[in-house]
Amino acid sequence: MTNIILLGPPGSGKGTQAKLLAERISVPHISTGDILRAAKETELGDRASEYMNRGELVPDSILIAIVEDRLAKPDCASGCILDGYPRTIPQADALNRILSGLDLRIDLVINIDVPDDRLITRLSARRVCECGATYQLTFNPPKKEGVCDLCGGALYQRDDDTEESVRNRLLVYKRETKPLINYYENLGLLTTIDGSGSIKEISDEIYAYVQ
Ligand code: ADP
Ligand code: ADP
Ligand code: ZN
Repeated sequence: MTNIILLGPPGSGKGTQAKLLAERISVPHISTGDILRAAKETELGDRASEYMNRGELVPDSILIAIVEDRLAKPDCASGCILDGYPRTIPQADALNRILSGLDLRIDLVINIDVPDDRLITRLSARRVCECGATYQLTFNPPKKEGVCDLCGGALYQRDDDTEESVRNRLLVYKRETKPLINYYENLGLLTTIDGSGSIKEISDEIYAYVQ
């Protein structure tokens, strides 16, 4: 049983790597961004999208309730990979509480380190599919332009991948999320990996480390 957190700024490759690792070690991939986007056209989704489009964080109370709910599902008994949660110290404190209530704990926190200029390049050319697949026009393009390799769906740009929103997300990351690096370092759980290599190189490095 392994519970792993992937930490890193927007665009560092958390989603890409979480998906690959989840497949390799057969545990669920829990992305709070995906959960919020899937809530589109519900009251939760409407509330969340106002924050998301501006590149702000959705309030802690909402996220904590979502994660509490998700971690209680039976598939998490074998472990999970958390992608995009926690993003604040109160969320990390709540996670400790939730996990200990379930008799679980965090085993590893992998911090993916990527320089800012590269994050902006990556996010401005990110394209996604409804099925959850993510592409990058230069580094990880689909085989056929505009079409998902996995399901044939039409690719689109996320509403929050505008330059203005991306810049704000990086500021919010530095203010709210970066302090989690120290938080988990102090708990002896953190390892930092260089996220500027290829998707395959990073995936192999993470997998080797987890093993
Ligand atoms: P995050 O979930 O941290 O925001 P993503 O996994 O969505 O990051 O990756 C951001 C963008 O960068 C996507 O378009 C993705 O295809 C691309 N990407 C991910 N990892 C790499 C990498 N190692 N090199 C180049 N581009 C990458
Ligand atoms: P990114 O690729 O930028 O890391 P995500 O898909 O993880 O984006 O998250 C998209 C948006 O969803 C965030 O900018 C934020 O508004 C909201 N969000 C996701 N996870 C959280 C969280 N743990 N706390 C607060 N807001 C969140
Ligand atoms: Zn698809």
